[in-house]
Amino acid sequence: MCRHNRLKGTLSDAAPILWQYGACARLKKGEPIDKLLYGGYSTISLGYAGLYECVKYMTGKPHTDPSATPFALEVMQRMNDACAQWKAETNISFSIYGTPLESTTYKFAKCLQKRFGIIPGITDRNYITNSYHVHVSEEIDAFTKLKFEADFQKLSPGGAISYVEVPNMQDNLEAVIQVMQFIYDNIMYAELNTKSDYCQVCGYDGEISIVEDDGKLVWECPKCHNRDQSKLNVARRTCGYIGTQFWNQGRTQEIKDRVLHL
Ligand SMILES: [Zn+2]
Repeated sequence: MCRHNRLKGTLSDAAPILWQYGACARLKKGEPIDKLLYGGYSTISLGYAGLYECVKYMTGKPHTDPSATPFALEVMQRMNDACAQWKAETNISFSIYGTPLESTTYKFAKCLQKRFGIIPGITDRNYITNSYHVHVSEEIDAFTKLKFEADFQKLSPGGAISYVEVPNMQDNLEAVIQVMQFIYDNIMYAELNTKSDYCQVCGYDGEISIVEDDGKLVWECPKCHNRDQSKLNVARRTCGYIGTQFWNQGRTQEIKDRVLHL
């Protein structure tokens, strides 16, 4: 509601392409956008993360376990029901958004540790799992993962993205096409995560590794052991976008824990 109230009174002049020239609407110059904040024209997104940790804590099992999946779906449904109720009360469309979380994963993990202590398998990592995702360290094949996560995308109408981690697929384009076709047939929005690294010192163009140095995670060229980040090109999808910025310790740990799905 803070966000909503903050937007009230905003004039269309703030972003003419959006509000005057048709990207979102064709309002007059100097006209407030207020009427577009109601009645389903726009939504307020409620980001969530850590469905995996929630279900693991409540049921003792990962949400991929058939005995725990119904509870996971119930949690998602409850959040959607809350949005529907608030919409009925306010005429504002709230929507559940599987947030990419980016660097906030570390902040949230630290907040949970502070509030609840270290609970094995729940708060003992420096990151929490994005949105409804299968835990990054869980062994699961690409097709099963996509099929499973598709059911959660339906309950994440404000935004959702799934991915599968793949090795270098340059010599197996048939497999890439097969995964693409599967995505098209089974899930709304999904992507392949691959690596595109380069060491400027020795020219190595394989995967740059994450190694532990005195409790700290650092990036290192496996060939020449260069650790100078200004001479390493590392690109990873954190969730929503591919970044090259060298992430905080929590996100780096999450990237290190990722298993391949193909
Ligand atoms: Zn190198």
